[in-house]
Amino acid sequence: MSSRREFIEKLSITAISVPLLYSPAQLFAASSEPYEGPILKVAIMGLGSYGTRVAEAMQSCTRAKLVGVISGTPSKIKKWQSKYDIPEKNCYNYDNFDAIKNNPDIDAVYIITPNGLHKDQTIRVAKAGKHVISEKPMGINAQEGQEMVDVCKAANVKLLIGYRMHFEPKTVAVIQMRKDGDFGQPKFFQGQSGFTIGDPTQWRLNKELSGGGAMMDIGIYSINGARYMLGEEPVWVTAQETKTDPIKFKEGIDETIQFQMGFPSGAVANCLSTYSMNNLDRFYMTGSKGFVEMQPSTGYGPIEGRTHKGPLTQPHITHQTLQMDGMAALIFDGVQPIVPVDGEEGVKDMKIIDAIFKAAKTGQKVTL
Ligand code: NDP
Repeated sequence: MSSRREFIEKLSITAISVPLLYSPAQLFAASSEPYEGPILKVAIMGLGSYGTRVAEAMQSCTRAKLVGVISGTPSKIKKWQSKYDIPEKNCYNYDNFDAIKNNPDIDAVYIITPNGLHKDQTIRVAKAGKHVISEKPMGINAQEGQEMVDVCKAANVKLLIGYRMHFEPKTVAVIQMRKDGDFGQPKFFQGQSGFTIGDPTQWRLNKELSGGGAMMDIGIYSINGARYMLGEEPVWVTAQETKTDPIKFKEGIDETIQFQMGFPSGAVANCLSTYSMNNLDRFYMTGSKGFVEMQPSTGYGPIEGRTHKGPLTQPHITHQTLQMDGMAALIFDGVQPIVPVDGEEGVKDMKIIDAIFKAAKTGQKVTL
């Protein structure tokens, strides 16, 4: 067995033994015992670009396993069946997947479809009695997000959002440093999240399927990052939108938004979300005693960065492998990541996105 796989196994076991906190010390402390606990049996819904990445990463998981698929494309189902040894009885399409209710071989469904479909698909999965992992953004507004939370609660299933950075070692280390007071009082966060989007016909530029443009897709990383880097919830936002290509970025599809957030302590954040510039994946935070800068800060990795104490040296491990093992630990043993990945966490980001859109449209400061 590769040493990387052994490392991940050790890492998962250590996390289980210390519920309720997923600190770097626990994350990296090794145990020599092999893992013999329950395995989270997952079906992926939506076999697109990110679904493929998650499936690959899950091959290295210790506590989670890909066992099923839900897809509208029969040829992809066939390919995945042979690649990942998925039995016919665990394959579904969008019309018949409510039948997972009667399939004891599936514990959870990971929804990796366009944003505008997450809510209805979450509700159907929850009603089938299975745990839901929904990709970010959890829906297209806070109201949808809250409905998803309520339905999953009523169905007594977990709702988790695909916040992979909450398991990423360098990010976890920085959050722990902030909690330990290493930066003193956090004062300012700067987040830059963007890339140049290609194909104008893709669902990401279709309001009904995406719910918005860059903000829903990539700007959300700066919102979520500001919250976990500063350790507070914003109380107001202001925002300014610029559009250079109104044909590609139609009404309701934001191309570039700059936004600011104010926090109860007086800390402020200044962020950029865009679909029209490359090389934007950077977080900077400064406090009364120190600073951290990360670039890249949320890409698939390796994440790189330094603080006033020196470079961040935690190892790179495939984010989605850590995430899925971490989510299995959460579902089976209640091991909480350092920052939550539950539906309520998703709703917090959606409320901020709603407020940013309102602020950009009205030019007003919006109170949260
Ligand atoms: P893709 O377009 O690559 O894949 C989406 C898949 O959803 C399709 O391949 C298709 O799979 C399925 N689908 C179902 N209905 C539709 C429809 N009407 N139009 C298009 N596709 C449909 O998108 P991504 O994989 O990049 O993104 C999916 C989700 O994952 C989004 O919510 C996105 O925000 C999130 N994401 C998260 C990332 C992260 O790092 N956490 C990174 C990238 C994306 P099938 O043919 O099997 O039905």
